[in-house]
Amino acid sequence: MEILKDRIIKDGVAVGTEILKVDSFLNHQIDVRLFEEIGDEFRRRFADVSGQVDKILTVEASGIAVAAFAARAFGYPPVVFAKKEKPNTMDEQYYFSEVMSFTKRTMSSIRIAKKFLSAGDRCLIIDDFLAHGQAALGLCHIADQAGAFILGVGTVIEKSFQGGGERLREKGVRVESLAVVSKIENGEIFFRI
Ligand code: 5GP
Repeated sequence: MEILKDRIIKDGVAVGTEILKVDSFLNHQIDVRLFEEIGDEFRRRFADVSGQVDKILTVEASGIAVAAFAARAFGYPPVVFAKKEKPNTMDEQYYFSEVMSFTKRTMSSIRIAKKFLSAGDRCLIIDDFLAHGQAALGLCHIADQAGAFILGVGTVIEKSFQGGGERLREKGVRVESLAVVSKIENGEIFFRI
């Protein structure tokens, strides 16, 4: 997606060799017009299954806005976001999965209340970043527990050098990434051609 790549080049900031900071348009301040385009692009990428999406799954917090714009493009299926903390209000039953947070370097569990995910639900996973694949694999694990089906994973930025995309594809999960960063070096961001 050229406008996304251009935006990453213009406003993305490389932090060391692992982290890309895109908080001016993706995960702190949000460029709503760009998010509309991102939603439409996911719809184009998943055009063959676009009529089958029962739910969009993501993880709080930065996945939520992207997932909501994707939902708009897919005809408004509900967005269900996994919670990272167990809230007081969540006294009902839930599915959970242990995931490692790459940016925070901590283990945490993500959880979705059972009432929001049912056997046979066909789900798309949408997230802002795909790095080591922990968040997406955790959501796949939760979907497995529910007997839900994953149609694919759509991510705004995949950092291919961290292996998450490969891990998912090896498991037979379809992955669509709108921009693929292959390397971050000396403050420069390289894209897969
Ligand atoms: P993964 O679970 O694939 O290792 O990482 C995915 C999550 O970590 C994303 O939802 C995102 O919140 C966060 N993340 C991973 N890499 C980056 C990065 O380079 N920049 C930012 N801002 N977040 C990242």
